[in-house]
Amino acid sequence: MIAPRGTIGILGGGQLGRMLVMAAAQMGYRCVVYAPGRDCVAAEVAGDFFNREWNDAGAMAAFAQQCDVITWEFENVPVEPLQPIAERLAPHPRALETAQDRLNEKRFVEQLGGRPAPYAPVDAPSDLAAAVERIGTPGILKTRRDGYDGKGQWRIGNARDAEGFSHTGEPLVYEGFVDFAAEFSVVLVRGRDGEVRYWDSAENVHQDGILATSTLPASDAVAGQVEEARALAKQVADALDYVGVLTLEFFATASGPVFNEMAPRVHNSGHWTIEGAATSQFENHIRAICGLPLGDTATIGASVTMENVIGKDAATAHECLADSAAHLHLYGKSAARKGRKMGHVTRVHRT
Ligand code: AMP
Repeated sequence: MIAPRGTIGILGGGQLGRMLVMAAAQMGYRCVVYAPGRDCVAAEVAGDFFNREWNDAGAMAAFAQQCDVITWEFENVPVEPLQPIAERLAPHPRALETAQDRLNEKRFVEQLGGRPAPYAPVDAPSDLAAAVERIGTPGILKTRRDGYDGKGQWRIGNARDAEGFSHTGEPLVYEGFVDFAAEFSVVLVRGRDGEVRYWDSAENVHQDGILATSTLPASDAVAGQVEEARALAKQVADALDYVGVLTLEFFATASGPVFNEMAPRVHNSGHWTIEGAATSQFENHIRAICGLPLGDTATIGASVTMENVIGKDAATAHECLADSAAHLHLYGKSAARKGRKMGHVTRVHRT
């Protein structure tokens, strides 16, 4: 167990890190953030900040020396520089390796009995025609690595779109377009002793590939599929001997839950848990990695909505507070670029 006053290292400097630091501070932990680049909003609330490149081995070693346990908030942290500090990491970096490549991730989940949309690797221009021929259209081409919030994705409506697609040579995966009734996620926490707890599954609505809202309770289309989805998520967590919060995203379809993707970290579709659940995803992630007992994940209230504040909307976001049920979270990011997640608003309704 990591005792309070211990130090937690966080790899990545975004809003997920910021909210992890805030939960850790509440329990008496000190956090140190390691992230390259600018606008590291997690560093603003942390005790120390290594603003260094991932492959700066000296800085990574100095960072690790300060930390009793190290976790990440960003799933594209390169795995190689983490090898020397692997024994201090929770979850284990094998979870990163699995989730960083969409193709590996789909194969891994399929081996455990999950059902992704039909897919095919596209490594060369000629592979796309064959993939479209086999899987059909419409479909979506996605980069295997480094995609997020709908970036690195191209809709292929018909065979002509496929012919016109100019391939840069980076590895891609083509997947069939899923005819879904709704989207939902399973957010779970797994402790060091293997105990697993789930939050209620929110129904998620995406716009332009970016999460717009999460709502609870979910519709009947989702509710009937949560049990099967949870069973798969637990298998994934057990197979990785996972410690912390893990998220799996699904499409609810007429033939059951179709696996979309996994995130080996706290997730935007779990932000509602800060005010909407007895214990938030952030607190339970900290509890899990520190070897503390897990907190109750029950939903508080009759309904909860979480709405993301995207781009320029941040300038007027405080207006939501005219509604006394609203809780505003702004992440302190400076540039309100189009499509950038700037904050979120959660509303918990007791009746
Ligand atoms: P992703 O980054 O892969 O989660 O994709 C972002 C969003 O795009 C998803 O949450 C869906 O709304 C949509 N999407 C992605 N892949 C598919 C698919 N194969 N079929 C239908 N919609 C998809």
